[in-house]
Amino acid sequence: MTPAGQPEARTDLVRASGAGPTDSMEELPRGTCPACHVAIGEVHRDDCDVAECLATGRKRMWCRAQPDTAGHDCGRADWTGWWPAHAEAREFGWHVRWDLEARKFVRCAPDVEGSGPDLTRLYEHGRWDQEARRWVRKRAVLFSRAVRGGRATLEELTKAAQRYCAEQGYEVVGEHVGTRGWREAVADVDEGKADVVVVPTLDRLGFGKQVFERIAAVRRAGGDVAGPGVRIDADGKIVAASTAET
Ligand SMILES: [Zn+2]
Ligand SMILES: [Zn+2]
Repeated sequence: MTPAGQPEARTDLVRASGAGPTDSMEELPRGTCPACHVAIGEVHRDDCDVAECLATGRKRMWCRAQPDTAGHDCGRADWTGWWPAHAEAREFGWHVRWDLEARKFVRCAPDVEGSGPDLTRLYEHGRWDQEARRWVRKRAVLFSRAVRGGRATLEELTKAAQRYCAEQGYEVVGEHVGTRGWREAVADVDEGKADVVVVPTLDRLGFGKQVFERIAAVRRAGGDVAGPGVRIDADGKIVAASTAET
């Protein structure tokens, strides 16, 4: 049993999801690293599987297993007293719990007993702030090309994009419309003010070939295009798109 009286098995299940230990184990700082046992302020041992990479925020072991980060310098993280990334997952409200009936992990609030941080979601939807040594929310700018139908239609679409951002946990930092708006949206990504351009539907991104050109432009600026029903793979290929206007 854990200190809070939870069966260890459930803790192990949550950990197996990549979610890390459950909350009950995190109410107090730990004097030593649970994996390599160094004290607070001491540098983790080289083979420690709790230590985070100071460049990517992911586990150092993960970096070493990836072809593109295997050779890079992960820095020398020390044990801070807290599991890396768990405070941010809690702050953003990104936890998971094991659903006994559904036999799978489901998202839940951090105050649910037996839940653990959803690190998969954090790695995917958060942005590592190297200087602050912590995860932050990704920042989104909304974009829609101007279309017939007037302001009412546009407002509806903006609402849909905003709902999407709220679901994803993105912080909305701007809103742009039309050709000039497009240039501003790309500039926001290029200048490091935004990470994602969110479009309400794929056909609001542009028409025909323009869609691909615009996705490529955002990628070149170092960002991504996303939106409700819009999924684009690492090569800029559209793998799923909903064209519904509502
Ligand atoms: Zn360690
Ligand atoms: Zn690394």
